[in-house]
Amino acid sequence: MTVREYFQDIFDTLTSITTGLKITLKYFFQKTVTVQYPEQRLSFAPRYRGIHEFEADKCIACDMCAKACPVDCIYIDKTAPRKIDKKTGKAAGGELLRYAIDYSKCLFCALCTEPCPTDCIHMGKLHDLSSFSREDVVVEFAELAKKGLKTPVPLWMERNAGNIGWVKEELERVKAGVLPPLGGDIPQIK
Ligand code: SF4
Ligand code: SF4
Repeated sequence: MTVREYFQDIFDTLTSITTGLKITLKYFFQKTVTVQYPEQRLSFAPRYRGIHEFEADKCIACDMCAKACPVDCIYIDKTAPRKIDKKTGKAAGGELLRYAIDYSKCLFCALCTEPCPTDCIHMGKLHDLSSFSREDVVVEFAELAKKGLKTPVPLWMERNAGNIGWVKEELERVKAGVLPPLGGDIPQIK
């Protein structure tokens, strides 16, 4: 190694350390962008697409949503054809044996919601589907409907409902089978 190369090496090392330190210091003094979820919550765009909300009593099991799904992650089974009863506005006929979505595949593209003739499948506002097994991310919506639910209850929700106001409200909404304000924004909570 020549003397020139020796000093060039020292210069390069110092330049590299200085550049790294400058980047670190720049971010060190910037405002924090992460929040302590679920105590704090960021707002979502009005058209945010989260875990589906499904109205089983309006589903005629026509398979239009499943056919539109680009990754084939909707599974539907029925005993016989179903159609909307004009008097009640609810689906009647065969039994909806299964309506499931595999969230390990779902792209949250919303293509399933567009062809639905009865407007019974919606993109929701919840985004958390943490679970202990891969099987648990296949949500059986027809089974949830038997419990009066339109969407699954995330694991963290019941644990935090006792001490976080907005989580309590959201849990009450999900348990009551009420759709979220699907067109509106979700307010930020700091
Ligand atoms: S959001 Fe897209 S990927 Fe997910 S179930 Fe609907 S169509 Fe399929
Ligand atoms: S398109 Fe609508 S009515 Fe038809 S199976 Fe899907 S959710 Fe049910």
